[in-house]
Amino acid sequence: MKAAQIRVENTASDRQVLRAAVTLLFALSTGLVCTILARLGPMRSYGDTLSWINTGAVVISLIALARGAPLAIREMAERRRYAASALDSRRQIENLFQMTDMLQSALGYDDANAVLRATASQLLAGFGGALYVFNNSRDRLDLSTCWDWPQDHLPPDTVSPSHCWALKRGKPHVNHVGATALRCEHLTADVLVLEIPMMARGEVYGLLCIQSGGEAGEVHLGEITPLAAAVADAMSLALSNISLREKLRTQALRDPLTGLYNRRYMEDVLERCVNLSERNGSALSVVMIDLDHFKLLNDEHGHALGDAVLREVAGAIVGAIRPCDVACRYGGEELLVILPDCSLDDAATKANVLRARIESLSDNHQCRVTASFGVASMPDNATKASELVAAADGALYAAKQSGRNRVVAAERRNVVVVDSITALAGKARSG
Ligand code: GH3
Ligand code: MG
Ligand code: MG
Repeated sequence: MKAAQIRVENTASDRQVLRAAVTLLFALSTGLVCTILARLGPMRSYGDTLSWINTGAVVISLIALARGAPLAIREMAERRRYAASALDSRRQIENLFQMTDMLQSALGYDDANAVLRATASQLLAGFGGALYVFNNSRDRLDLSTCWDWPQDHLPPDTVSPSHCWALKRGKPHVNHVGATALRCEHLTADVLVLEIPMMARGEVYGLLCIQSGGEAGEVHLGEITPLAAAVADAMSLALSNISLREKLRTQALRDPLTGLYNRRYMEDVLERCVNLSERNGSALSVVMIDLDHFKLLNDEHGHALGDAVLREVAGAIVGAIRPCDVACRYGGEELLVILPDCSLDDAATKANVLRARIESLSDNHQCRVTASFGVASMPDNATKASELVAAADGALYAAKQSGRNRVVAAERRNVVVVDSITALAGKARSG
């Protein structure tokens, strides 16, 4: 509608300029012909008439000029403006294409954030921005990156989907400033923010927030809304690809129930850790864990509770180990923790911490949750990965045999039952 209106206005004003130009041309040519005729011998007698015609032509020329010149100047300015805006649109499209192209090579959220920031600094210069992405359990959105936001009104670290109008409606939402404005709960300060849900393949992947300030903030925000929506669209497809890639990677490496690494991944890592330990001459320990009487727990309380206990046990273990340690689900209710650069004594101490943590989970359920632990170490008990796991397994068997809910450390020749860490340390020293 708007474009059609502009086209009609342009055509009308073009016609007026053309009319003025033709009139001017006609008047000038008439004046020129009259001047030439007045100088020719046979026409000298018509001198007065020709002079009047000439004067009339000059007056008409001046009128045409007075009417046509401002129109022509306005027309030229208008065209220059259209040309500049067309150039701007072309640049924006090029930037968007470039962004989409770069996003295809983004390996993770960090890459995507960098591309978004670079694009926003060109396309949405002068506006603050923030990108939120869903966490793994999809119950909240975490701040992934933010830029040019006022220091005293920084965006919140997390956003709850139930507090966000844009996410609830699945449409862009402007948080206007003012007491009567409908604002999202997570935006406490009085900042003008446009929020755009980022959807791809029918799923929401994140939220793009654009902040504007100043007196003309609302007007500027209105002007860039379509552009911000295009940026959000390009970005959401990239987020969905990254999320899909991470999901596939997690599925290949992780056990879906506990989130721990799976056995295949553990075998690779253990082999690498053994090689590193040999090369560095550092100790390497493994802790084999088996939940006690887990079959009984399933039978008495149901498989769902068994699954919940397994998840909690995994969480308790992950929460107690170092980032460089690797916890994995060895199979069923058996778990294995690899502790690089950790001696047999230290590994047994750590195993006892894990044992106590797992036992304390009993308080959460109407059942007893305990586990038995077998600890083995390189070079004390083994020189190869397979020997190390077998030694830990042997120690675990001993822990089961000697009453469960305990830690047993494998010894080079025999197996020592550890009732307390002090006892283990004493034995290890004497050994
Ligand atoms: P022990 O103290 O000797 O280890 O006894 P246990 O009952 O734990 O050992 P057993 O090997 O007899 O049984 C293991 C049980 O673990 C049987 C199986 O149903 C249960 N289990 C294995 N994987 C899962 C799982 O993913 N979820 C649930 N709920 N149970 C599982
Ligand atoms: Mg078992
Ligand atoms: Mg068991």
